[in-house]
Amino acid sequence: MSYNIAVDGPAGAGKSTIARAVAEKKGFIYVDTGAMYRAMALFMIRADIGPEETERIIAACGKAEVTIAYEDGRQVVYLNGEDVNALIRTEEVGNMASAISPIPEVRKKLVELQKQLAAKSDCIMDGRDIGTCVLPGAQLKIYLTASSLVRAKRRYEELTAKGVPCDLEKIRADIEERDYRDMHRETSPLRQAEDAVLVDTSDMTIEEVIAKILELCK
Ligand code: C5P
Repeated sequence: MSYNIAVDGPAGAGKSTIARAVAEKKGFIYVDTGAMYRAMALFMIRADIGPEETERIIAACGKAEVTIAYEDGRQVVYLNGEDVNALIRTEEVGNMASAISPIPEVRKKLVELQKQLAAKSDCIMDGRDIGTCVLPGAQLKIYLTASSLVRAKRRYEELTAKGVPCDLEKIRADIEERDYRDMHRETSPLRQAEDAVLVDTSDMTIEEVIAKILELCK
């Protein structure tokens, strides 16, 4: 049986940075489920479908094949055979992903893929519903969070370092709006699983968080 670590939490809590590092240290694969929702969102944007057009999203969902491959230990997301890794990190795609993710037809398809990946490999998987829905039997569950201001500042610094002009207050408002949607949707809302360990990273360095999770794995 494979060893699975589930990491959930709101946008910008540091899930991907932490999960990637823990995966490397443990020799596990890292499964970034947000990237799958983002790839699906990119398909909708390209098809000129709006976030409110639920019927069209459901119909289009059948035409979007999202697959995952690992190249040099890095997760690569394919959308109908095209490597879309470099195209899914924008705010536009993130907001669209959040808008389409409450739709059960979208989730069903991606959750299936996530379960298959976890069944065949030791992995650390991050998302919103991993501990509660995707991998309820995971050996370790972490709920990673931080205040919205800290999360917005991290995103601001990331974008500024890349030379992308941005506004801290706008980022914070987007983050809070996205959290609200993710936590209040009917299907698989973001919440801490009963058996998950809460880790608030507001005042922790990345190294401290990684050390804490490695300690919890023991
Ligand atoms: O984590 P990331 O910001 O890449 O996720 C983008 C969006 O995808 C989230 O805001 C959330 O709405 C959705 N998502 C989800 N379930 C997951 C992972 C992501 O609903 N397991």
